[in-house]
Amino acid sequence: MEYRIKEVLSNGFSLGNIKKEIEIKDNIKILSKEKEKELFSNSVLKSLNEINLLKEKEKDLYEYLCVQELMINDPLLKKSVFKLIDEGKSAKDAISISMDYVIDNLALSNSNYLKERVEDIKDVVSRLIMNLSNKKNKEKKKPFILYTNNLKPSYIINNHENILGVIAKNGGITSHSTIICKNYNIPYVIADIEFKEDDLCYIDTRKNIIIINPSLDIMEEYIKEKNEETKYTMKAIDHKGYKFLANVQSNNDLKYVLEYDFDGVGLYRTEFIFMNSNRAYTFLEQYEIYKEAITLMDKKSICFRTFDIGDDKEISYLKANKKGIDNYINNKELFETQIKALLEANIHDNISIMFPMIESNYEFNYLRDWLIDIAKKYNYKIPKIGMMLETKLALENINEFKNVDFISIGTNDLTFELYNIEREKVKEIDNIKILDDLLNKIKIVIDYCNKYNIELSICGEIAGIKDIALKLYEIGIKALSVSPSNIKSLNQSYTEFINK
Ligand code: PEP
Ligand code: MG
Repeated sequence: MEYRIKEVLSNGFSLGNIKKEIEIKDNIKILSKEKEKELFSNSVLKSLNEINLLKEKEKDLYEYLCVQELMINDPLLKKSVFKLIDEGKSAKDAISISMDYVIDNLALSNSNYLKERVEDIKDVVSRLIMNLSNKKNKEKKKPFILYTNNLKPSYIINNHENILGVIAKNGGITSHSTIICKNYNIPYVIADIEFKEDDLCYIDTRKNIIIINPSLDIMEEYIKEKNEETKYTMKAIDHKGYKFLANVQSNNDLKYVLEYDFDGVGLYRTEFIFMNSNRAYTFLEQYEIYKEAITLMDKKSICFRTFDIGDDKEISYLKANKKGIDNYINNKELFETQIKALLEANIHDNISIMFPMIESNYEFNYLRDWLIDIAKKYNYKIPKIGMMLETKLALENINEFKNVDFISIGTNDLTFELYNIEREKVKEIDNIKILDDLLNKIKIVIDYCNKYNIELSICGEIAGIKDIALKLYEIGIKALSVSPSNIKSLNQSYTEFINK
């Protein structure tokens, strides 16, 4: 039986048996008030101990763990729990009730970021409740695919060695669980399917599908692909004359860019920086982030895309439009602050800046001139300025673009505009006619860029699909920008390309 994935939070493909996350049962007998208070105090100590150990092991989660520590140590929590115990509640119920108030208020917020923090609080609750008893939140089973309502960060941290994939009913792209799954290369998807314990299940985020009881053919193909995958390490192979670039959305991702030895960053989605806040970042705050990124990349190139909002990327405090240029005209101050912070941070002269959702040369020139005016006004060096080619109109107007230093083709948006294929389903372009048509259109852009010496790359998701990447090389693309975890796929497609 085949199902659609509703949302992909972390990419990958995997096969395994379903295991449902155990829920903590409610049938705990209420002990004396003193005993319940003692249970709570011991649980606080155990939880803080656990967090301290994790802080050593999981450096990436340091901030997240500090916040957990703060919540557990909060004197108001203790006060509220003790009060509820005095009123006759068990320690477990007292913890849940005390946290529910905070959770309810966050859930009402308009901000996705704040809504996703609900899971972090639930994680604290679950940690404290687990530590009331000696039951551990750790599964000792053979590797499995986890099926859960909401994935808790502590669960994935404790069990990641055994988890082949995660299917959850709810979850969000900026949640800590997503970040952790990406770190461990665990596919994590949202889907509304009823599973039975031990169902054999295949997840493939490249095709956006989940299959229960897959056919023998699919299983054989899976084993072949996994073997292929393990043939390649997570390090870029030698790829002379071609560029392996990375798509990132935070400075944290840059560590993989360096570890896997990418040539640089082809797309830094800066809007994700703004999603982690409920207000616009100041010049100084942005400058620090960009400078850290630029310093980390050192001599490697890094291409920042000015914030690209609208569609599925909502930022509560910004007005969003579909057309890129409108977003900057409507949020003039943030655009100017962003450009200024980027130019100020450009200490290694290794940055380029590109604009999203451009439709015409007029729009590109308008933004380019705006950027150059800012650079001149403050005496900054002018970096390479380019555009994303991701709208139907830009494709139709390709011959107009004479001032661009580089073009990056964004197939996620482009395939939607051209063929009405939604971005989540872009990875399943196995319709040969559509793929051929897209390749023909990309070929026109390649010829144009070759003629005018314009650097060209592709940064949509399809660049991370081995067979399509191979076709892109064949028609003359020399730079692909993919999520860091797709390094193996780049290695494979490049190897096949030069051995053909
Ligand atoms: C694209 O549209 O292909 C792209 C890379 O940009 P985003 O996915 O951020 O819209
Ligand atoms: Mg796009």
